[in-house]
Amino acid sequence: MSFLLTVENSKVIPPRPEGRIALLGRSNVGKSSLINAVLGGTHARVSKTPGRTQTVNWYLWKRGPGSFKILADLPGYGFAQASKDSRNQWARLAENYLRHDGQLEGFWVLWDSRHGPTKVDLEAIEFLSLRQVPVTIVMTKCDQLKTQSERVHRAREVHKEVGMIKKSVLISDPVVWISSRDGTGFKELFSSVKDHT
Ligand code: GDP
Repeated sequence: MSFLLTVENSKVIPPRPEGRIALLGRSNVGKSSLINAVLGGTHARVSKTPGRTQTVNWYLWKRGPGSFKILADLPGYGFAQASKDSRNQWARLAENYLRHDGQLEGFWVLWDSRHGPTKVDLEAIEFLSLRQVPVTIVMTKCDQLKTQSERVHRAREVHKEVGMIKKSVLISDPVVWISSRDGTGFKELFSSVKDHT
């Protein structure tokens, strides 16, 4: 089982030697499906009720012989019925976690290919400017872009947004387009992760 532990209090980071990749995205963006596809099998629960427990879940990812990373799964944000309180709670948790985990090596920021980044996606990016850690933009569900013109249109839109956010966060190029449904893009996603150990 690759589920490792839940970080309940984001100011108290359990001591583990592995480098961390933090995953951020709106509820329903496909984060659990991505984690399951990376780890192989069912580890994260798909389509759970959004916004319940505000914790960070750690998954141990064996990348190869003797090579491990931790995927740090932050709760999804921006679900429609979110109260102001739960938004504040998310912000506090994200901010604390990003400030206190000294072993963050990268962020995977998940945006939905079907509509590109939304206002809340761009708001959430601001938290990442707390740490100068490389960000990989991961466009999920790319199997849903059926035509070439849709793909070109969305790629242009994303390219433009990435250009804007580059001013505050460290973006590693290129944007990765993935589908957890058909396996597209995982090779590129994996090669965006550097081995520091
Ligand atoms: P989370 O809330 O971000 O963890 O998102 P989930 O992984 O639970 O996925 C939300 C919904 O999107 C579910 O109905 C998934 O089956 C669907 N989904 C996730 N990844 C993909 C994908 O790559 N392609 C398509 N077509 N649907 C996806």
